Amino acid sequence: MKISELFKKEKTVLSFEVFPPKKTSGIESIRAAIDQIAVCSPDYISVTYGAGGNIANTFTRDIAAHIKNDCKIEAMAHITCVNNTKEEVLTVLDGFADAGIENILALRGDINPDIPPKTDFSHASDMISFIREHRKYDNIGISGACYPEGHTQAESLADDILNLRKKVDAGAEELITQLFFDNAFFYDFREKAKIAGINVPISAGIMPVTSKSQIERMVTMCGASLPQKFVRMVTKYEHRPDALIDAGIAYAADQIADLLSSGVDGIHIYTMNNPYVARKLTGMIGKLL
Ligand code: FAD
Repeated sequence: MKISELFKKEKTVLSFEVFPPKKTSGIESIRAAIDQIAVCSPDYISVTYGAGGNIANTFTRDIAAHIKNDCKIEAMAHITCVNNTKEEVLTVLDGFADAGIENILALRGDINPDIPPKTDFSHASDMISFIREHRKYDNIGISGACYPEGHTQAESLADDILNLRKKVDAGAEELITQLFFDNAFFYDFREKAKIAGINVPISAGIMPVTSKSQIERMVTMCGASLPQKFVRMVTKYEHRPDALIDAGIAYAADQIADLLSSGVDGIHIYTMNNPYVARKLTGMIGKLL
C-alpha cells in the first residue's frame, strides 16, 4: 500500500524510523530489535540508507523486506542521490520492487567527507522527477524530507520552503520533518509551507533523546535548536543513563501530545532501533492518536 493512502484515514499516522546494520554480523541483532519494535504496530516503518555518510547500505532492502513480509507492517526504504547514479537508482528500485517494497523516502543524502558523492542528481527533487519519468515506477509511493528550522545549507527558511515546493511539484506525496525539540518551529514552518502552496501531509519527526553524546552528534549534523527546558533535562540526568532515557521519552511524549492537539498529520519517531524507547513511548501516546 502507498503510504499516501494511510493519510486518507481519520487517524494520525504513526511511523517509526530504524537503521540497517553496518556489517553483516549485525543483521540478526537488528532484525531481533525490529521484531520487538514492530509489536508496537506503527502504520509503517522506514529504513535509512547510507545515513551519516555510511555507505554500507546494502542492508536497507533486506531490513525493509523483513518489516513488510515477516512483520507484516508497511515499509519505506530510504534512497539517496549521493550514493547512486541514475542507472543505480533504477537497479535499487527494481530490487525494492522485487522485495515487495512499495514506498521510498527520496533524499539527497548525508555527504561522507571521505567519499566523493555521485553527481547525477543535485537534489532530491531531481531524483524524484527522474523516477516519475519512468511509468514503470508509477506505483511507488515517494516521500521527501523537510526542515522546520530550515536545511543547514539553505540561505533562509523561505528559500528552503521554495525548494521544498519543487520537491512536492516533482512528485513527493508526503513529507517527514527533521527532528526538532521546540514545536514552535514546526507550527511556523507548517504555516509557511501552506502559504507556499505545499498541501501534502507533513509528519513531525520526533527523536527521544537517549544519551548526551547522541544529542551532540545529531545537533552537529542537523543544527536543531535546543530549548532551555531540554538543556536543563539533559544536564540534570547526563550521568544517569537510565534516568536520561526515561526523561527523554517523557519529553518526546509531551511534544507529541501537543502536536496531536494541533492536528498534526503524522508522527515519525526516530527509534534508534531501541525497543524499550519505542514500546514505552507508544504506551504513553497510543490512546492519543
Ligand atoms: P534536498 O531536498 O536536495 O535539499 C538539500 C539542500 O538543497 C537544501 O538546502 C535545499 O533548500 C536545497 N534544494 C533542494 N532542492 C533544490 C533545488 N531544486 N534547487 C536548488 N536548491 C535546492 N540521509 C541519508 O544519507 N540517509 C538517510 O536514510 C536519511 N534519512 C533521512 C530521513 C529524514 C526524515 C530526514 C529529515 C533526513 C534524512 N537524511 C538521510 C538526511 C538528508 O539526507 C540530509 O538532510 C541532506 O543534507 C538533505 O537531504 P534532502 O533530501 O532534504 O535534500
